[in-house]
Amino acid sequence: MNKIAQIFDSLDYGPAPEAPDQAIAWLDARGRRFGHFIDGKWTSPGKTFTADNPATGASLAEITDGTPADVDAAVKAARAAFKSWGALSGYERGRYLYAIARMIQKHSRLFAVLETMDNGKPIRESRDADIPLVVRHFYHHAGWATHLEREFPGMVPYGVCGQIIPWNFPLLMLAWKIAPALAAGNTVVLKPAEFTSLTALLFAEICERVGLPKGVVNIVTGQGDTGAAIVDHPGIDKIAFTGSTEVGKLIRAATAGTGKGLSLELGGKSPYIVFEDADLDSAVEGLVEAIWFNQGQVCCAGSRLLVQESIEERFIAKVKRRMASLRVGDPLDKSIDIGALVAPVQVERIRDLMKKGVAEGAVVYEPEGTVPAKGCFLKPALVTNVSPANTLVAEEIFGPVLVAMSFRTPEEAVALANNTRYGLAATLWSENINLALDIAPKLKAGVVWINGTNNFDAAVGFGGYKESGFGREGGREGMSVYLKPGWEKTLKAAAPDATPAKAGASRNPLDARHLDQTAKMYVGGRQARPDSGYSRPVLGPDGGLVGEVGEGNRKDIRNAVEAARAALGWGTVAAHARAQILYFLAENLDYRRDEFAARIAAQTGDDGADEVARAVERLFAFAGWADKYDGAVHNPPLRAIAAAMVEPLGVLGIVAPDRQPLLGSVALLAPAIAMGNTVVLVPSSRAPLSMTDFYQVLETSDVPAGVVNIVTGDSLTLAKTLAEHDGVDGLWFLGSAEGSAMVEKASVGNLKQTWTSRGLAYDLAAPQFAGDYLLAKATQVKNVWIPYGA
Ligand code: ADP
Repeated sequence: MNKIAQIFDSLDYGPAPEAPDQAIAWLDARGRRFGHFIDGKWTSPGKTFTADNPATGASLAEITDGTPADVDAAVKAARAAFKSWGALSGYERGRYLYAIARMIQKHSRLFAVLETMDNGKPIRESRDADIPLVVRHFYHHAGWATHLEREFPGMVPYGVCGQIIPWNFPLLMLAWKIAPALAAGNTVVLKPAEFTSLTALLFAEICERVGLPKGVVNIVTGQGDTGAAIVDHPGIDKIAFTGSTEVGKLIRAATAGTGKGLSLELGGKSPYIVFEDADLDSAVEGLVEAIWFNQGQVCCAGSRLLVQESIEERFIAKVKRRMASLRVGDPLDKSIDIGALVAPVQVERIRDLMKKGVAEGAVVYEPEGTVPAKGCFLKPALVTNVSPANTLVAEEIFGPVLVAMSFRTPEEAVALANNTRYGLAATLWSENINLALDIAPKLKAGVVWINGTNNFDAAVGFGGYKESGFGREGGREGMSVYLKPGWEKTLKAAAPDATPAKAGASRNPLDARHLDQTAKMYVGGRQARPDSGYSRPVLGPDGGLVGEVGEGNRKDIRNAVEAARAALGWGTVAAHARAQILYFLAENLDYRRDEFAARIAAQTGDDGADEVARAVERLFAFAGWADKYDGAVHNPPLRAIAAAMVEPLGVLGIVAPDRQPLLGSVALLAPAIAMGNTVVLVPSSRAPLSMTDFYQVLETSDVPAGVVNIVTGDSLTLAKTLAEHDGVDGLWFLGSAEGSAMVEKASVGNLKQTWTSRGLAYDLAAPQFAGDYLLAKATQVKNVWIPYGA
C-alpha cells in the first residue's frame, strides 16, 4: 500500500513539525547568554543558570541570576523613569502600548516558537492562545491608557511596581502585569520565572524597538531570591504577584506594614461540575480544555470533576474514550495535544503526589500508549475512588491529573465545589438555564464559566476568592489595582490620641450610680455578656466614669463570627431591601439624635450633634448606593458575555477608629452592609458606648440578626483575633501603624483582604468616604461567562 492509502486506512496523524530555526537563530545571535534589561540597556551576564527545553532536555541559554544590586539598579531606573512616564498624557502612553501590541503581533510566530521551546507547551496553544491573548491585552490597555483621565478621575499611579510571574504562561502573565501597569502610568521591574525567561527577554527587545522610554520596563531575571529582593525593596510602591499560594503568603507577610500595594493571583483547585442534563459531548471537550490545556499547569484548571451520579458511568466512559485519543509528544508538532511539563522537578512532584493519593485509596486511569522516553512527559490521568480528604482532591497538582467525584443534588454539588481553600474559577455544564444561573452565584470563585471553560479576555477581570488571592487582572477591575486616589498620597500621620483621662473620683466600681451601667455586646441579634466576665470603664474627658462595657475576648469574637456567618444570606437579599433597611436605620438614628449627641459629648467632650448628623447622612448615602453600585456586562471577542457581578466579601471585620465614636463606626458599617456583607464590629476602645447604644437602633430597624455584631474591648487584641480567624473574609482596621502591620501579617492564614489606615489621618467625615472608595473595598467582582449569540 502506498503511504496515502495507509493514512486513510489508519486515520493516524502524520508529523506536522513547526520549524524552530528562527528561534534558534535569535538565541544564537545573542550568544545564548543574557543579562538583565535595566534602564533601556542590557547588562552583561552575571552568575547564570541554564534555561532548558523541557521536551528535549537540551540547554537553550544561560540566564543571569539577579542579585539585590541588580534589583536596586532596576528600581532606581524605574523610579527615575516614573516622573516623565507618569506625566505623559494617557493618549501618549496608549500609543506606546498600541505599538507594543502591533510589534508582538508582527513577531508572533517567533514568540510562539520560543515560548514552546522554553516552556514545553504545544505550539498549537502558544500560537493560538497565549500570544493572541498577549496581543489583545496590549491593544485593550492602549484604550484604557487613552481614557484614563475620563474613566478614573482623581486616580494616580502607584509609582514603581514590582511584578513577579510564574512559568505556566510566561508571556501572557507578563502582558497581564505590564499592560495595565503602564496604562495607569506606573513603571515596572518584572521578574520572569526561572524556568521561562526567554520570551520576557524578547519582549524587552520589543520595548527597545518601539522606543519605550528607558526605565519604564525593566526585566530582571532570577530565582526566588531575586523575587524576594524585589518584594523587600523599599523603593517599590506596589507588588503584583502570580504564583503559588505558598509564596503568595510569604509576600503578604513580607509586605505587611510597608504600605506597598499588593495584588495576588494564586493557586486553585477549580471544580468542573457536570449536571445530568448537560450536553455531555460538549462537556467532555470542555473538560479536555479544562484539565489538559497546558498539561494542566493552569492555576484555574478544572481539576476536580464533579459529575451527577445519574450520568457518572456514561460520562466517565466518554472521558476515558477521549483521553485515549489525546496525543502526547513533541510540543513543536502542530497536532500534539499535550506537550512537556516545564521541568523534571515538576514531573517528580506530580508523581509523588499521585503515589500519596494512591496510598490513600485513589484509583488512577491512564490511556494505553507510550510517551516519549526523553523529556518531561506525563500521560493524562483520571483519578477516581477518592474522598474530599484525599491528597489529590485537596492539593493543587498543577499537572495533567483530573480527580473525579460524584454528587446527587445541586446543593451537594455546590457544597463539594466550595469545599476547598481556593476560589479561583469554576465551570458548570447544564442545558437548564435556571439551574445554571441558580448555581453560578453560589460558587465561591472569581470566575465562573457556564457551558464553556478557560475563556479569558483582556476586558474581563480574572482573579480569585479566598486563598486564590485578591485583586483582578483585566478589565476595569484590573486597571483599578494599579491606581490609587490622589488624596491617599497626601495623607498625614494622625495626631496622637490624647492621653487617656485618669479615672476621676467617681470611678468607684461599687458606686451605686454605676452598678448597672455595663453595656452588653451584641451578637446574633441578642445582647451578650462578655465571656471573660470582666468589664472596662469608659471615661469622659474629665476622667469621670461615663459607663462600662464588656471586655471582649477571643471567645466573644468567635461567637460573633459564627453569628455573622450564619447571617450571610444577607448578601442575597435584594439590594432594594437592603437600601430600605439602611434608610430606616438613618431615620431611627435621627429620631434619637439628642440622646446620641449627649452620649458622644459625655465620652469625648466633642460636639455630638454634628457627629450624629453626619452619621445619619452617611447611612442615607449608602442606602442610596445599595442598589446602584453594581456590575457590568462585558463583550469579549467570543460568542459569550461575561456578567461582572459585584459580590460582598462575606464576613467583614471592622475595627473602628478611636475618634468619632459614632461616625467612626457607622461610616464603615454602612457601606459594608449596603453591599451585603455581615459584620463583626469592634467600636472605639475609648468611647464604645455610642455603638452599644446603636444596637437598639439596629433592633428597631429590621436589621436581621447576625448582620451586625458588636464586640467591645481592646481594639488591638480583638483585631488580632479577627485577623487570625479563618471565618473572617475581610478586615478593616483604622488605627496605629504598628496595629496595621500586625493585622496584615496575622491575616496570612486565609489571605483575607485587609484595609488598614497605617496610623494616617483618614477623615471619615470627608466626602470621598461616601462613595465608591469604600464600596470597592467591601466587594469583589465575579465574572460569569455565559454563551450568548452562539
Ligand atoms: P510555581 O508554583 O508556579 O512555580 P512559585 O510561587 O514558586 O510558583 O513561583 C512564582 C514566581 O515567584 C517565580 O518567578 C519565582 O521565582 C518567584 N518566587 C519564588 N519564591 C519567591 C519569594 N520568596 N519571593 C518572591 N518571589 C518568589
